Amino acid sequence: MKIEWQSTVTCPQCGYKKEETMPQDKCQFFYKCTNCHAVLRPLPGDCCVFCSYGTVPCPPIQLERSGEAGDSSGDCCNTQSDLFRDE
Ligand SMILES: [Zn+2]
Repeated sequence: MKIEWQSTVTCPQCGYKKEETMPQDKCQFFYKCTNCHAVLRPLPGDCCVFCSYGTVPCPPIQLERSGEAGDSSGDCCNTQSDLFRDE
């Protein structure tokens, strides 16, 4: 499983695209468009701006989708799945 660290964020306000490097240890909740300076926030159900506006979702989501996420993966994106945990 190869993690993509680069994601091209498309601003929903002006359509401006910019390639960004995603942080390794946390989700990026806010993103400021360098063109129109709009502050982007994740869409409902998404954990970070890369999942909502990027070409590549954030690394924890990539791992989760690949089925390789272990217990040692960070908990930044796990708050939602906790709701559906079957215990
Ligand atoms: Zn913009």
